[in-house]
Amino acid sequence: MTPRMENKRSVPWESWDGVCQRCGKESAVHIMSMFNVQLICISCSDVEREHPKFEEARKAEHDATKSGDRNFEGIGLPEGLKSGT
Ligand SMILES: [Zn+2]
Repeated sequence: MTPRMENKRSVPWESWDGVCQRCGKESAVHIMSMFNVQLICISCSDVEREHPKFEEARKAEHDATKSGDRNFEGIGLPEGLKSGT
């Protein structure tokens, strides 16, 4: 298992209530989406990583945190990752 803590944005962990904010499943583990500020489960995170725009999102987040913006909200959820699609 590799740690999945490369996401450095400040995270409203207290808004986590045990349910993935994307797929709605209960999850013991959560991570902030790289595309927006949803708290999602590991399987949703894995789906994000497969998305062609993930690198773009990751880079935008990296640039934002590097310049001190810890409240970067992401590039927005791309088509194909929106819930219900
Ligand atoms: Zn999920």
